[in-house]
Amino acid sequence: PFDVLVIGGGPAGATAAIYAARKGIRTGIVAERFGGQILDTLGIENFISVKYTEGPKLAASLEEHVKHYNVDIMNLQRAKRLEKKDLIEVELENGAVLKSKAVIVATGARWRNLGVPGEAEFKNKGVAYCPHCDGPLFEGKHVAVIGGGNSGVEAAIDLAGIAKHVTVLEFAPELKADAVLQDRLYSLPNVTVIKNAQTKEITGTDKVNGLTYIDRATGEEHHIELQGVFVQIGLVPNTEWLEGTVERNRFGEIIVDKRGATNVPGVFAAGDCTDSAYKQIIISMGLGATASLGAFDYLIRN
Ligand code: FAD
Repeated sequence: PFDVLVIGGGPAGATAAIYAARKGIRTGIVAERFGGQILDTLGIENFISVKYTEGPKLAASLEEHVKHYNVDIMNLQRAKRLEKKDLIEVELENGAVLKSKAVIVATGARWRNLGVPGEAEFKNKGVAYCPHCDGPLFEGKHVAVIGGGNSGVEAAIDLAGIAKHVTVLEFAPELKADAVLQDRLYSLPNVTVIKNAQTKEITGTDKVNGLTYIDRATGEEHHIELQGVFVQIGLVPNTEWLEGTVERNRFGEIIVDKRGATNVPGVFAAGDCTDSAYKQIIISMGLGATASLGAFDYLIRN
């Protein structure tokens, strides 16, 4: 069996694996897609100490760093079940069952997609999901934020300081964000809020040039010209496979303590799949290191 088995090969999982391997314990890592979300990221400007890099390049460096250690890498494998027996058992979709004394879940998250024409086509060509990451690319431009919950309104406030104009589109008749955020949003001169708006299509040629929505009150169709669309309708943690075993909050995020421990002894979690407050590369790495040290602490006590 493994001492530490990491599930997930993004920034959190890679860091957890390196920290474990550096303790000289038997470490494995299972990843559906080594690199994780950063494989879908173009420019990264907030990975501190590296002024600029690109997702695929950072993913390759992560993998190279992990390979420098004695880590058993099982790439292109998906975990489908976890069970705590004497050891912790993780069953993969290919039928294999891996056993480990401690497990670190770092399966990340995925942005909830709108699922309208143009969204996939213009991803990274005007369609963005992370205002902290891609906001500065839209300096002086007109952008839309889709979603009027807390993340959408926070994104709009953030973007209003960078972009020329921000249009917020909310599907429901009212914004769902906290009142303080709404007050702040409405105080900004360069923000327009459109409620009852169902986004129908993101338009463009080689990149985004606009967005079509249906006014749900009247059924009328409208088109707005703009250069960027931030989709802010939620982040979905990849934790469905832990249903019934590891405790999660109502968003599906794994609940962890400050050492990354879950409610199941020996099972730790890190990164975007947890209830951590913010989801970023550098934060996921920090949480991966934390969970790995937490797991090591657990091992020497058990
Ligand atoms: P992930 O990166 O999501 O990795 C999860 C890993 O788990 C993957 O290897 C995945 O294949 C694997 N996995 C999932 N389910 C299973 C399973 N059942 N079995 C086995 N493996 C599984 N952050 C920044 O700091 N700066 C940026 O500029 C930035 N830009 C971004 C741009 C985009 C388009 C996106 C989507 C995100 C961006 N982020 C950025 C956020 C950042 O990518 C995430 O916070 C970070 O990748 C989270 O790391 P993680 O390891 O927790 O999860």
